[in-house]
Amino acid sequence: MSFQGKPALLLMCLLTAAGCSAAPAPVTAPAGRPACSQTSSIDEAFQCARQDPNALRALLLAMPKGGDLHHHLTGAIYPEVLLQLASYQGLSVDVSPDASGSPKFAFKSGGATPGSGKPDMAAVTADCLACPASQSPETCTGNALIPACCLCSSGTLYDGAVNALSMRGVPWGTLQAHDHFFAIFGKLGPATNNRAALLAQLRQQASRENVLYLETMSSAPLPPADDPDLKAFKDLFAAGSSSAGATFCAQLMAEDFGTPDENGTKVIAAIRAVAAQVAKAMAQQIVDSSQLLGCSSSDDASAPPGCEVTVRHQIEMHRTAPPVVVCQEALLGFATSEADRQHIVGINIVAAEDAYVARINYSKHMNLIGNLGKIFSPAGRALHAGELIEGLVPPNDLRFHIHDAVWVARAQRIGHGVAVTYETGSGEILDTMAKEPVAVEINLVSNAQLLGIQGKEHPLPLYVERHVPVVLSTDDPGIMRTSLTEQYRLAALDYPHFRYADLRTFNRNSLEYSFLTGASIWEDPGTYARPVADCRASGGGLDVNRCTAWAKGQGDKAQVQARFEQRLRGFEERHARN
Ligand SMILES: [Zn+2]
Repeated sequence: MSFQGKPALLLMCLLTAAGCSAAPAPVTAPAGRPACSQTSSIDEAFQCARQDPNALRALLLAMPKGGDLHHHLTGAIYPEVLLQLASYQGLSVDVSPDASGSPKFAFKSGGATPGSGKPDMAAVTADCLACPASQSPETCTGNALIPACCLCSSGTLYDGAVNALSMRGVPWGTLQAHDHFFAIFGKLGPATNNRAALLAQLRQQASRENVLYLETMSSAPLPPADDPDLKAFKDLFAAGSSSAGATFCAQLMAEDFGTPDENGTKVIAAIRAVAAQVAKAMAQQIVDSSQLLGCSSSDDASAPPGCEVTVRHQIEMHRTAPPVVVCQEALLGFATSEADRQHIVGINIVAAEDAYVARINYSKHMNLIGNLGKIFSPAGRALHAGELIEGLVPPNDLRFHIHDAVWVARAQRIGHGVAVTYETGSGEILDTMAKEPVAVEINLVSNAQLLGIQGKEHPLPLYVERHVPVVLSTDDPGIMRTSLTEQYRLAALDYPHFRYADLRTFNRNSLEYSFLTGASIWEDPGTYARPVADCRASGGGLDVNRCTAWAKGQGDKAQVQARFEQRLRGFEERHARN
């Protein structure tokens, strides 16, 4: 329930004896806390607000945020939204018991009550679609496949599904949390098929907390199995380990790879043909998400929420898959980014880094990524590395993952980097990351939930102290039930020595170290004291209006940066005027 504008004021006038002629009484700050309404700069406002975690949340929610560079598309959507989509699509849900005896709540295609046939924005924004009255109540009491609409017709099933598909109620920092989390992705299946609807939902979520850019990880959508290009590529692997494809992949995964031989040349030509189609499909997902949101142009101030949020893709490869499959995914990722670098800005390697298959093949994966980087024109490389702690894996696996991601796979950004101080030569790694630079994507809530690492145990302050560019990101905000605002809030609460200027640097880093194409508005990334000449005011600082005009003729990066600076200037000025 909400009252808006004048009616609410009128109601207050009627209910209070003082009437409306008197100015409202000032709000008194709690004892020992300065009045936050008296601040004269954004830093003062920040220092004041951080004494009250709730006031801090409000301030940081209102703060414009550049980008969220590390999140997984299917993990970023709240399961409540997936339930809606599943009910509208007429999907089934497997409620048979898992190993612990609880219902699995895994989505399946077909065999259910037909939905409305509108698995789009209507399904994302509407209530969960309950089962039709004509359906027998027994349909929802089975213990195998039941229609997804049953979850919308029973509070018990609905709550059970939300708990099974998210971290709600799971104790943080336990092995149970880790295992529960990674098992969720295998259950989402067809509920996540409508990528445009998911992207539209993400953009709306981002808009609510003033985020301007999303660099979203997802799997590449393959053409149909009978597509001639896909068949030609698959045929190169049909003879198993002796095939042209498998032989080339074995070469790519070795340290001493040179240049592609005849087999390799065939494989590369075949994957480029597939990638041309995949690139078109992924670019179209973005266009379709804009259409679902009702956008005409991102510059239109009256456009619906979410239209102002730029979204770009990273293609995932899955490190827990067999090596030859990881190789195929990597070939597709690099070739697709090469085909449309503007929309498919990079590649990433995902899934549990501590899993057995991922561990034993780690070096092969890094060789593969490093070698493909020499063959295809540059794709942004952001690699999960060091999402580990002592005890989770044998000691040797703590010693080299970040090192190899930086030195062998030539990552431009590292995801998590929690285990950096376990690595052999960690000081040299930090120095190299600062110098190259290689940014680190810090996911505070994720690390607390899955690894039990937070506060003083987290290496975030160390990265900052060693001048490694830091960005804050969400990882899986739907499953983890968090937000980008919460990452900034935790950074402010857990590390009292960070000032507003530190948070602003993280914020600017999130666009500067993004894989958006085109020039930057900054000459000094990481410091942000010197704008490029076309953005510079006569006094040397940033001329936001001039920069915005210049950026229009530039690529994506400058345009998003200029929009962000415009908003940030407004936010900071509002607080300076208090
Ligand atoms: Zn991640």
